[in-house]
Amino acid sequence: MKAAAMAGILSVALGQHAIHAQRQSPQRWYWQRGPADLVLRHGRVVTMDARQPEGEAVAVAGHRIVAVGTDTDLQRYIGPTTRVVDLRGRLLIPGFIDAHAHFMGIGQSLKQLDLTKAHTWDDIVQMVAAAAKQAKPGAWIEGRGWHQAKWDRSPEPNVDGLPYNDSLSRVSPNNPVILTHASGHGIIVNAKAMELAGIGPTTPNPPGGEIVRDARGHAIGMLRDRAAGLVRRVQQQQLDTRTPAEVEADAEETVRLAAHDLASKGVTTASDEGESFKTIDFLKTLVGRGQVPIRLWVLVNGESPEDLAAKLPSYWLDGYGDDHLSVRGIGEITADGALGTHSAWFLKPYTDDPSTSGLNVTPVARIRQMAEIALKDGFQVSVHAIGDRANHEVLDLFEAIFKAHPEARDLRWRIEHAQHLTAADIPRFAQLHVIASMQALHACSDGPYVVQRLGEARAAEGAYAWRKLMDRGAIIANGTDAPVEDVDPIPNFDCAVTRRLKDGRTFFPDERMTRAEALRSYTLNAAYALFQDDRLGSITPGKLADLVVLSKDIMTIPAGQIGTAKVDQTYVGGKLVYERTVTSGGGQ
Ligand SMILES: [Zn+2]
Repeated sequence: MKAAAMAGILSVALGQHAIHAQRQSPQRWYWQRGPADLVLRHGRVVTMDARQPEGEAVAVAGHRIVAVGTDTDLQRYIGPTTRVVDLRGRLLIPGFIDAHAHFMGIGQSLKQLDLTKAHTWDDIVQMVAAAAKQAKPGAWIEGRGWHQAKWDRSPEPNVDGLPYNDSLSRVSPNNPVILTHASGHGIIVNAKAMELAGIGPTTPNPPGGEIVRDARGHAIGMLRDRAAGLVRRVQQQQLDTRTPAEVEADAEETVRLAAHDLASKGVTTASDEGESFKTIDFLKTLVGRGQVPIRLWVLVNGESPEDLAAKLPSYWLDGYGDDHLSVRGIGEITADGALGTHSAWFLKPYTDDPSTSGLNVTPVARIRQMAEIALKDGFQVSVHAIGDRANHEVLDLFEAIFKAHPEARDLRWRIEHAQHLTAADIPRFAQLHVIASMQALHACSDGPYVVQRLGEARAAEGAYAWRKLMDRGAIIANGTDAPVEDVDPIPNFDCAVTRRLKDGRTFFPDERMTRAEALRSYTLNAAYALFQDDRLGSITPGKLADLVVLSKDIMTIPAGQIGTAKVDQTYVGGKLVYERTVTSGGGQ
């Protein structure tokens, strides 16, 4: 542990001056002579380590893996105090690493109405009606995860498939309501929320956002992208009136809910795509107290370039709290919006709405300013780009910065989503060493309307183009964008290898990943994207013992059954952080 702490200090010291900090080789921990603390055996171990791809057993001492091999090989690690787990033939893999999630958002979403499974707009109105009956006077009612494309029928009347908020305002006349779109790029609010935010018939669209109006100019309650800020600001002002103790208790609950959700789904490390300096301080306190059972990679979401420039250098963290918290990147920089809301930024207009090519949310010059600051301090840059124009602009920007700074190496800058690409931009990811941070499940969620939005040719050219990217040498790191999608890796892995849509169709099957590629994208590649591949991402002696036991072998069972696999056990640093209670008839 001391050595790990020293390594942490060393990296902190180097981090601000050298882009590529010295790293200790995992091999240092290889020579374990006495008995191990934990041996998992009689299983099928898939390691993601090319030097020893498979085994039957794993031995763990302290936080680290000390050996992988056959049951017979590892017998010598079993002593009188060793905890021995019989895997009964089950699959043991490295813990899943979600390279793009919103950790605090996951916790917050677990406190909100879950609208992801609503079949109609009326279902949602009924859920809000029930919540309004329970709510304290004036309290905000929040829901998230609705998607108009997932409803059985369009609401009537509607604008672009979106409902009018009248029914919402009727069931909740006094409590403001905010219902966030599945993409996170728009909200539906009720009349009370609009009244509090002062949105009236003449309120102009804020830059980078849209107050959706019907043909007569009447605002229907939908606020796209930056327009959502008009209501969120008022909500925040009310939240700011809470006492510090109330705020802290609420945030602790958020962390507890999120960490439990992740551990129960086999996610041992999660990225948080962007938090304020204040939230990072809070997370550091909780990690220091040992209150966060999983590992976090938190990107900084600075308020402004000036804010970033002032504070970034003092926020560098590499493996704080026994490798439970690292802060060495900036994120939540959105080049554009989302496909679902017609706000992803394209080179050519949308096929189903030729009046728009989407939105540039953060001006490219401003992204450049933030990226330059991050580069100076040795921080990773992570930019959200969905449309082909947004991806093109960000690749151009990264290329220009890399050319201007040939001394900077191993930056591992990332494009989040990299969802729609022109053929010419696909090879640039590998050429520029830019990580394609993609969320496989988005392909299966969006699949039903991608061709409608973009047309067949554009979709075939570069929509969720995993195979084309991998064939050109790009590194794809997988994730879920939770709470946009559920953080559960099983459906995500399933979509990565099948691209099967709910209606049974297969969405551009040539772009599927093999199972080994899908697992790699979710372990070793994700670890690489988080600068953690020296200590995480594979079952390798010397690395941290983050392990997952699955009820079914997702690497070999028929593709149609992948979705039925369950997480039986999750270990973080050799510590059991989740175990499924198997009811009779369960198990295998
Ligand atoms: Zn995201």
